[in-house]
Amino acid sequence: MDDREFRRLGHALVDWLADHRERLPSLPVMSPVVPGAIRARFPASPPAEGGRLADAIAALDDVVVPGITNWNHPAFFAYFPSNVSAASILADLVCAGLGAQAMSWQTSPAATEIEEVVMAWLRQMVGLPPVFSGAVQDTASTSTLTALLLARERTTGFSQNGAGLQGEAAPLTVYASEQAHSSVEKAALLAGFGRENVRLVGTDEAHALRIDLLERAIAEDVAAGRRPCALVAAIGTTATTALDPLAAMVDVAARHGMWVHVDAALAGTAMVLPECRWMWAGIERVDSLVFNPHKWMGIGLDFSAFYVRDPEHLVRVMSTNPSYLRTAHDGAVTNFRDWGIPLGRRFRALKAWFHLVDEGVLGMQARLRRDLENARWLAGEVDRTPGWERLAPVPLQTVCLRHVPDGERDEARLAAVNLELARRVNAGGRAYVTPSALKGRQMIRVSIGAMATERKDVEAVWAALREAAPR
Ligand code: PLP
Repeated sequence: MDDREFRRLGHALVDWLADHRERLPSLPVMSPVVPGAIRARFPASPPAEGGRLADAIAALDDVVVPGITNWNHPAFFAYFPSNVSAASILADLVCAGLGAQAMSWQTSPAATEIEEVVMAWLRQMVGLPPVFSGAVQDTASTSTLTALLLARERTTGFSQNGAGLQGEAAPLTVYASEQAHSSVEKAALLAGFGRENVRLVGTDEAHALRIDLLERAIAEDVAAGRRPCALVAAIGTTATTALDPLAAMVDVAARHGMWVHVDAALAGTAMVLPECRWMWAGIERVDSLVFNPHKWMGIGLDFSAFYVRDPEHLVRVMSTNPSYLRTAHDGAVTNFRDWGIPLGRRFRALKAWFHLVDEGVLGMQARLRRDLENARWLAGEVDRTPGWERLAPVPLQTVCLRHVPDGERDEARLAAVNLELARRVNAGGRAYVTPSALKGRQMIRVSIGAMATERKDVEAVWAALREAAPR
């Protein structure tokens, strides 16, 4: 493709994207395609001759759009918000177009320095003290894995002492709540802690970790000759946005010299609102934390903000220094390849910069407050409507509800009713919600926070749920 054609197709594609965003409300939220339908539209072998890009672009509407579940749809209430603002889309275009490689300062100085700037901006936006330094990671899963590797290294010097996995006399243990995201257990297993050393601690009625059970688990482990190593607090669990008692957890961890990592993947964004910051009281004392601006904040996937208190420890654990990566500036600049697992890094900071200057802190605060207010409204409706039940507090934007016809108490029948209810709403295409189980009870999660979602859309999903309920 020559530059003229690139310009022509590029303009056409931006027009196409703008049209797509405008017509989003008229599209089904959840993709209605059946498995294999998209693959069947493609030849089994790659094209021998090139020059067919215009055909592929022309096929987007017919082949791709039906197979997209529209996370930016105003009636998207499933999983968690995963917004991508228009500014973030444009930045990703520039990022790809520049072809920047952000592994070292020298390989793209602008990428490194803008990453330093936006990580400092984000830190201030969520009210974190300047003792934290951050790097962009691809996901919270990677960030949590990195945190647990750092915890392991601080406790043992594991990779540096040369003894490897077999070198520790006392097994190291990791603690998190039973409501922690699956990425925590996965990270602990990948970091070599071993399944028998991962403690998923019970929770209270608000689905937050119970300190008494944590202390009991630690005491049992110590008595059995194990060594407490890391504690992961969830600020905003996936199921219900429950808030673990962080300050008390940090106190417990301090008594045992444990690393404390906070997973605030969704809820970190809420801390842009000063009135929400009580939710992570104690955060100034943790060792590391992650939140995902690629969820509620509007910076498109993938942008996970990972902060540590001791960046020297991070660099010590993560750095590699072969001759071909050394530059004259090493020591005087940040080489972000040493701040995480991958070597090659995209220029992700650009989309944070574009998004933040486009929406501004005040604009974002107004949007987040709108979403919190919408969630409170829905919670109130559920509470006051006979035949409906709310299963968890609503500190943030997620409402966990279920239909309870005629005082039905049989959990198996309630599960069948609510699974069918969610299936009907989702299949109808007007809204998309997540059926999920909470401590053995089937529920429906309504997660509010797509940038386009207004009160009328929340009223509509509530109406759709009631209409789909068996009478
Ligand atoms: N932690 C929590 C609390 C989450 O809700 C999620 C995603 O739902 C994750 C971690 C995983 O995030 P990522 O997809 O960035 O790995």
